[in-house]
Amino acid sequence: MSGPIALRCSQFVVKELNKSERKEVLLTVDLFPDLSSDEVYNQSMALAKADAKKAIKNVLKPLLSDRLIPIMLEKSGLDDQLTYDNIPKQKWLELCKLMKAFPVIVKGTLSIEEAFVTGGGVQLKEIDPSTMQSKLVNGLYFCGEILDIHGYTGGYNITAAFSTGYMAGKSAAQQV
Ligand SMILES: Cc1cc2nc3c(=O)[nH]c(=O)nc-3n(C[C@H](O)[C@H](O)[C@H](O)COP(=O)(O)OP(=O)(O)OC[C@H]3O[C@@H](n4cnc5c(N)ncnc54)[C@H](O)[C@@H]3O)c2cc1C
Repeated sequence: MSGPIALRCSQFVVKELNKSERKEVLLTVDLFPDLSSDEVYNQSMALAKADAKKAIKNVLKPLLSDRLIPIMLEKSGLDDQLTYDNIPKQKWLELCKLMKAFPVIVKGTLSIEEAFVTGGGVQLKEIDPSTMQSKLVNGLYFCGEILDIHGYTGGYNITAAFSTGYMAGKSAAQQV
């Protein structure tokens, strides 16, 4: 998995793996957060019914990305050539269940060499935020990735590095 959502989730996965000493974490992806399970069922069935001669792999195109369709059909045990008249209701329910809670088993995160942002580092409670000076060692200043912060995905780590860097540099110069 990649992209902003995976980056954002990764810290929670690491914490959960460390906390519970489990080998894996189950995530579920809701592909239709604005619809209830019943609405997903009714709307997908209505689509199939409206185009009753169409194979379900094509019926699902307005709902799911092309790459997801074969995976979803396989996982719910549906033949991709089925049409509305011969859809087994139970299996379609299974498909809708997957659309609302697609399971992803996460076994870990990538290595430090591949990390975009790292958690851990110098604890914030040991730093005066108005100067970025260490509360433990006079004249020692910290900024950026060395701090135990990870900003919200979307540019906030660079923002944090710039702003803490500005403050640490300015305060250090003033002290000198
Ligand atoms: C692939 C990738 C993509 C990212 N994308 C984003 C993004 O889109 N938005 C966002 O906000 N953040 C992003 N980040 C995170 C962001 O880049 C960092 O949070 C930020 O660069 C941290 O700044 P920094 O100055 O603290 O550390 P760094 O940028 O890591 O700078 C540390 C510098 O110190 C140097 N250095 C290390 N050891 C020594 C030494 N002994 N002597 C001298 N120099 C040394 C290193 O070579 C490096 O130049 C991304 C990170 C990666 C890896």
